[in-house]
Amino acid sequence: MPADASAHTPETRWAWVEVSRSAIRHNMREFKGLLGRNQRLMAVVKADAYGHGAVQCARTMMASGADAFGVATVDEGIELRQVGVDKPIVILAEPPIDSVPYIVDFDLEPSAYHEDFVLALGEEAASKDTIGRYHVPVDTGMTRIGLMPGDVAEFRQAVGWHRGIACAGTFTHFATAEVPRDWDFELQVRRFGDLVSSLEAQGIDPGLVHCDNTAATILHPETHFDMVRVGLGLYGLYPAPNCEPLVDLRPAMSVKARITRVVEPPTGAGVSYGLTYRLSRANVQIATIPLGYADGYARTLSNRAEVLVDGMRCRQVGNICMDQCMFAVEVNGAREFQKRRPVHEGQVVTIMGADGDYEISADELARLRGTISYEVCCDFGLRLEKVYV
Ligand SMILES: *Cc1c(COP(=O)(O)O)cnc(C)c1O
Repeated sequence: MPADASAHTPETRWAWVEVSRSAIRHNMREFKGLLGRNQRLMAVVKADAYGHGAVQCARTMMASGADAFGVATVDEGIELRQVGVDKPIVILAEPPIDSVPYIVDFDLEPSAYHEDFVLALGEEAASKDTIGRYHVPVDTGMTRIGLMPGDVAEFRQAVGWHRGIACAGTFTHFATAEVPRDWDFELQVRRFGDLVSSLEAQGIDPGLVHCDNTAATILHPETHFDMVRVGLGLYGLYPAPNCEPLVDLRPAMSVKARITRVVEPPTGAGVSYGLTYRLSRANVQIATIPLGYADGYARTLSNRAEVLVDGMRCRQVGNICMDQCMFAVEVNGAREFQKRRPVHEGQVVTIMGADGDYEISADELARLRGTISYEVCCDFGLRLEKVYV
């Protein structure tokens, strides 16, 4: 299907993010297919669902059977509650103690590993006649948040007397789940497994046991435990190439724009700030699109990225500006060029996504930027309007 036919241009701006609900539904099915009957799927929708829009994504994922949602902040959790998400919402880090009233009012499940935080949660919950549910994060080797494995039992005993709280889960997070046969990953798994067994042996209920991110969910069925926490994969991206043969994912996000201007400058003309690109010949169209680095099209991509238009791959040229950038359309043969000007104003350009036989993936842009697809998607989500298709 040509990009034009599928374009849902926002009224006020000729640049937008397109999010495919059917891709998300498909990816949900794929991940549910990897799980055993009693294993739950937490859909991680932090950072506005990795730039895809948390509210719309959470709705789609809930309808596709998400058992819980993972967010990074209290505000992200409140946003989901306010649109009617009624599944457990887990905050994947311990928020400030001052946020405890909101956590109780909106029935969020924070990660918690400071006694004063958990007891404050208990007091607040008890005063409102409810129970504050929390998850204990365990640092098994990533050195980010949580308790060291040896401190968990004591912590649980220290807060266990409080009647306003319930430990809903015990979890850890992997630093290298996508690395094949990785010693550090094995070590994290062993420490976590040992901790869970030891809690159970002491009669301490760990609640839901969970540790797998997307990569571990795909590569390590043996560590699914009670629940997996899948983010990236639900948006159709692979954490590493070794995951590709094991699950069929469809990227949900595309980034599109319409051409606002086309010119045919003479040989030697320069393009954009600093004139870092100059035309080395005539019969080249320079097309402008209204999307720039403030939209997530990182300036480090300047003169390196490509865009898709009308079944062609075209080089982005000149420095990417804050809100606009340019690309070059070259056709072999002056006669051919004069006969058929390849692009025109209003035409849809694909900055990320598929058009005809070509695709520009989040991984391609990530490689060019020296980052990962996670950041590419988060950045595109920051300012562009999202259109759900
Ligand atoms: C972000 C995050 C996830 C999801 O990771 P993906 O690689 O996107 O699947 C899972 N667990 C925790 C604690 C996280 O912070």
